[in-house]
Amino acid sequence: MCSMSFSLYVHIPYCQAKCPYCDFNSYAASTWPEDDYTRALIREIERRSAEAPFSGQRLRTVFFGGGTPSLFAPDSIGKILDAADRRFGIESGAEITLEANPGTVGPAKLAGFRATGINRISFGAQSFNAATLRFLGRIHSAEETRAAARMAHRAGFERINLDLIFAVPGQTLAAVRNDIAEAAALEPDHLSAYNLTFEEGTAFFAEMKRGRITPAGSDEQAAMYSFVREEIPRRGYKMYEISNYARPGCEARHNLTYWRAQSYVGVGAGAHSFALGHEGYGRRWWNHRAPGVYIKAALGEGIAEAGAEEIDAATGASEFIFLNLRLRDGFATADFHARFGVEFDTRFGATAARLFEGGLLERSAEKVRLTERGLELADSVFAEFL
Ligand code: SF4
Repeated sequence: MCSMSFSLYVHIPYCQAKCPYCDFNSYAASTWPEDDYTRALIREIERRSAEAPFSGQRLRTVFFGGGTPSLFAPDSIGKILDAADRRFGIESGAEITLEANPGTVGPAKLAGFRATGINRISFGAQSFNAATLRFLGRIHSAEETRAAARMAHRAGFERINLDLIFAVPGQTLAAVRNDIAEAAALEPDHLSAYNLTFEEGTAFFAEMKRGRITPAGSDEQAAMYSFVREEIPRRGYKMYEISNYARPGCEARHNLTYWRAQSYVGVGAGAHSFALGHEGYGRRWWNHRAPGVYIKAALGEGIAEAGAEEIDAATGASEFIFLNLRLRDGFATADFHARFGVEFDTRFGATAARLFEGGLLERSAEKVRLTERGLELADSVFAEFL
């Protein structure tokens, strides 16, 4: 079995402030070792490109995520992209995305990113309501988000994503509608709308445990999610994943790599990688999370692996199902058969029958996908396939 596609994820872990809901591998910093970190990333790219399973393969997407990659200078991002192109080769027409915090960019910086080859920019807008932005601990105002999106258009970015968060305690449907309207007015080609969650280890989780924050109730969250699923498509964006909406043809190709369970290499602190076709089914590995430890290891050995696991076909089949079910179109049972050499109904027939009967899964034209109700209970559907 060989990989059908190959993507590169580059993690930049620094942020100006740590948002209280964030459980990403990110660290508040007023200064950061940009040169050392950039050199470490390049070393890791060089090493990965020289070895199996990725040597000789070209990149169809690159994604700079974080953290806040827009804190780095275009020059640093350009060096990393040059290394990726020199060592792996970046396909022409590849999607190259950079995540940006609206409070960290100006016209010159955006033009600089565009000049390096970044062709898609993803802004963490989250909300256009001042009180919600304050509650979420965001460093930017709504006006800064509007300005950033306009500057990105002027800098030549045709592909722009805006992230929104809903189900913030106290938020009304009218406020969510207003956030969606404000975001759409900036003419992004893609919108992501995430339900606020309270993950262990975050400041919000601790506040919740102390009784100082009460999350929206589950019915209220379901109602908001249902509202978002109607409201965003009304503005010309089709829902294609649980939390993602795009104008026709503007789906995030990089993220589709993850949801279709295809291969990717992640470089940087805490980055995860997955390679199909290793000793049977696949292999996953992950880097040291602490930036200092990562830099030292990558500059030394060119590798900063903290752990790895072989994935057998049974586990791979479960992962394939719950990743692909995130997609609104689900998956073709023929694709399942092509990858695992067994019919979906043979492998998961009893589980699937229960979910079809319960109205959580549906099947049409040999595709299996979540129903509307299944979307709202997605985590429990996924758990059925584990
Ligand atoms: S800016 Fe993004 S990555 Fe950084 S702390 Fe906030 S949510 Fe997390």
